Formats: sequence, C-alpha cells, structure tokens
Amino acid sequence: MNYRHAFHAGNFADVLKHAVLVLCLEHLKKKPAPFRVVDTHAGTGSYRLDTRETEATGEWREGIARLWDATDGGTRRDGPFAALAPYLAEIARANGATRDLRTYPGSPALTAGLLRAGDMLVANELHPDDNERLTATFAKDKRVKVMAMDGFTAVKSLLPPHEKRGLILIDPPFEQSGEFQRMTEALGNGLVRFRGGTFVMWYPIKDVKPVQRFQRAIGDVAGKAGVETVLAIDLFVRAPRHPDLLNGCGLLVVNPPHTLVGDLAKAGPALAALLEQGPGATFEMHKLNLPRPAG
Ligand code: SAM
Repeated sequence: MNYRHAFHAGNFADVLKHAVLVLCLEHLKKKPAPFRVVDTHAGTGSYRLDTRETEATGEWREGIARLWDATDGGTRRDGPFAALAPYLAEIARANGATRDLRTYPGSPALTAGLLRAGDMLVANELHPDDNERLTATFAKDKRVKVMAMDGFTAVKSLLPPHEKRGLILIDPPFEQSGEFQRMTEALGNGLVRFRGGTFVMWYPIKDVKPVQRFQRAIGDVAGKAGVETVLAIDLFVRAPRHPDLLNGCGLLVVNPPHTLVGDLAKAGPALAALLEQGPGATFEMHKLNLPRPAG
C-alpha cells in the first residue's frame, strides 16, 4: 500500500469525483428519510494544501485552484458552474471566512458536512496511518463511524444499510492490476444486497480500451441485477494519445439521481475546458446499454 491520497488531493480527478458526489448527496437530502453513505476507500478525510506531499506534486493547482479562481473563491453562483454551488460551498466551509484555499476536504469531510442529524457515514480506510488521521478527524462526530477493513469486503459486509437508502463510494487507489475486475465483482456483491443503492465508482483513464471493457462489464452486472440506469461520466484533460499518462478519469453512477444529467450538462464541458492539460480535453456523459435481467 504505497498510494497516499495527500499527494493528489484537490487534483482534477478529485474535482470531478467530489462535484458528482455532492450532487448525489444533495439529491438524497431532498427526502426527509435518513440515509447512509459507505466510503470504501476513504483516505484521511481532509487535506492541508501546504504540506510536503501537496507541494511535491502541485496537482491541486491544476484542479481545485482553477475552479476556485474561476468562481471568485466559490462566490460566483451564476455561469457554467452554477450547479456546482453545493460542492463549492463545502470547500468554502472548510476554508473559513477568508476563502484562501488552504484545506481541501476529501470525500469523508465533504460527506460529513452534508449529513443531517439522522444520516450516517461509514468511512473505511485500510492504511494504518491514514486510518488514524481519519479516526482523529471524526472522533467527536457520532454520525461518522470509521472502519479499517478491505474496501471491497466492506461492500459485502456493510450492505444493506439499516436505513435502506444510501450511497456507496468505491474509490480504490489503482496501484495494482485487477482493480477493474475487483470493482466489477464488488458491484455485483453490492447489488445483491442493496439493489436500490446509488453506487459511485471512480476510475482513471489512461488508455480508453480497458475503460470501455470495464464499462461493458459493469453494464452487464448492473443490467442482470435489474438496475435501470448506469451513467458514465468521463472527463479527459487531454486526448488519450499516450497511455502512460493520466489523461482523464471517469465515474460510473449506478442508480443515479434523475437530476444528475441536467446538473452536469453545462458544468461538465466547462470543467473540461477549465481543467485541460493539453489538446483534446473533453467531457462525455452517456447511459450504459444494459441487458435485461434473466427470467
Ligand atoms: N475517497 C478519498 C477521497 O475522495 O477523498 C480518496 C481515496 S484514495 C483514491 C484511495 C484510498 O484507499 C487510499 O487512502 C488508500 O490508503 C486506501 N486503500 C488502499 N487499499 C485499500 C483497501 N484494500 N481497502 C481500503 N482502503 C484501501
């Protein structure tokens, strides 16, 4: 386990993932019934942007810093990023009144910021150091439970949630091969237990072919389980000509909120233009073709 998210916090991939995560959570909050979020690979929870790790890569400067500047420190509520206002509001909250960008909230901090009194977050992180920091961050928040199991095992053992409503974020580090396969199996296990849940799965895009195979495999598993909609959301920061580079990233959202496509219709292409790192930056969104369940 060499991957440490502190080196990548606030990069373009976090911006896409977290903007979508917040939109999904905002939708869950439209109904009063409580919900549960399971974050299978949670990281440390929140990140300072002036540390040795963040400075070593400077990735956040090509990610959240660009969005922060483009929205005047999250204060601009009009224009192409209007739909991302709830995400920007959470970043503003993490940074206090001055709106200087010093802290970037990871998925657990963003989620915890949006929970209501009866909602729950289970934040699971296997790395002992990161788990210790995560535990310390949420020590006083009774709505947050921190666990330290394998993230894919968590999908099996923590579902279905007691609340019967919820979201599962599956965001592994992709430091070893076989991650696409493990995510596909995890989704199958998750849907057997919680077919109505919203599953948000992040993946890197280097070469597009393995990603297309992964999307087909996920569509197959979801369709056979009786799911009606899986949305693929891909952000390319440059055309994928060099498969050694991280050319983009994507999310598969199983059982997405019906509002998500509309929310991203303007913001998605605007993000691609803002976060571009080379020619050919684009935003693509499509519903997967799903087979019908057998019998
Ligand atoms: N979800 C976080 C966010 O958006 O702020 C970032 C998570 S980072 C991409 C992946 C995390 O998974 C790392 O913190 C890593 O230590 C952790 N990890 C690696 N292998 C794991 C495993 N088998 N089970 C659970 N966590 C694992």
